[in-house]
Amino acid sequence: MKVGFVYDPIYLEHDTGQHPENAKRLEAVISHLEQTGLKQQLTPIEPRAASVEELLLVHHKQHISTIQDVAQRGGGWLDVDTVMSADSYEAAVYAAGGVIKATEAVMNGEVDSAFALVRPPGHHATATRAMGFCLFNNGAIATKWAQAEYNLKRVVIIDFDVHHGNGTHEAFYDNPQVLYISTHEYPFYPGTGSAEETGRGEAKGTTVNIPLPGGCGDIEYLQVFKQIIVPVAKRFKPQLIMVSAGYDLHWADGIALMQVSVTGFAQMARIIKQLADELCGGRLVFTLEGGYNVNALAASIRATFDVLLGNTKIEDPLGQSPRRFQTPSIANLLERIKEIHNLP
Ligand SMILES: [Zn+2]
Repeated sequence: MKVGFVYDPIYLEHDTGQHPENAKRLEAVISHLEQTGLKQQLTPIEPRAASVEELLLVHHKQHISTIQDVAQRGGGWLDVDTVMSADSYEAAVYAAGGVIKATEAVMNGEVDSAFALVRPPGHHATATRAMGFCLFNNGAIATKWAQAEYNLKRVVIIDFDVHHGNGTHEAFYDNPQVLYISTHEYPFYPGTGSAEETGRGEAKGTTVNIPLPGGCGDIEYLQVFKQIIVPVAKRFKPQLIMVSAGYDLHWADGIALMQVSVTGFAQMARIIKQLADELCGGRLVFTLEGGYNVNALAASIRATFDVLLGNTKIEDPLGQSPRRFQTPSIANLLERIKEIHNLP
């Protein structure tokens, strides 16, 4: 298995100061991949800057100018959560271009699958605004780029970050050629992503929101994958699978209440890889979204790479959650979502 990864030190230059989404996240991931010897098993993919035309696939001109202007002024806060430094515009265009390059390498068969280790993250960024630590919607831009470049009629996006990817949801809400599937804690930031939001017009049914109560762990996520994500993805028959991979649902992550372990992330990655193998010749691109406990993030990304490489041994240095939350019952919720999406 040839597995690509995108990384560049430019991603460290998006300086957020004292902020959960900071450069130490990627530094920890890269040093963990080096120390464990995993990096040598991967194929490096050089990122490039996304062009303004490529950013315009998802964003309005005004939004792009705003990000440029704030960077030129030396940075500043865009909303209560989202901050930029002087080099953030460049980091952000390389993040979008990095996911495009990962997608290109997978589509051209240079690698079997790829993971873009980029920041700033993307899935909250909408056509007109930066929010939730995101400036440009890297995954949505790469998806639209791939649709145009390779004339793809069906792309599946699986977004397992603990937050609803409102920007991606919005970018494809009217687009029947992209099936957007999101699991997220709900109600929670950013507030969108109820099960009833399923797409508009011709695209009705091609948005699958799976709003979960806090406290879900490996068992609940596995149920969601097996009962909802696998059957809807199979029914859609994608030509490419994109993954918005956020690791902020790990139990040690302080930003949310989920209880997933590194082992759970490996199980999710295995299911997604099997789907790609079965449905689209293995064509699979991961892009990094959240994940704010650096040890959990590094171990989870390593486990994801192990799965993509076909390595059977998964290291879970953090183990299962020591917290004893009562496990929520999601049986009724899953039945309701199956009903909404006509699943057996
Ligand atoms: Zn998140």
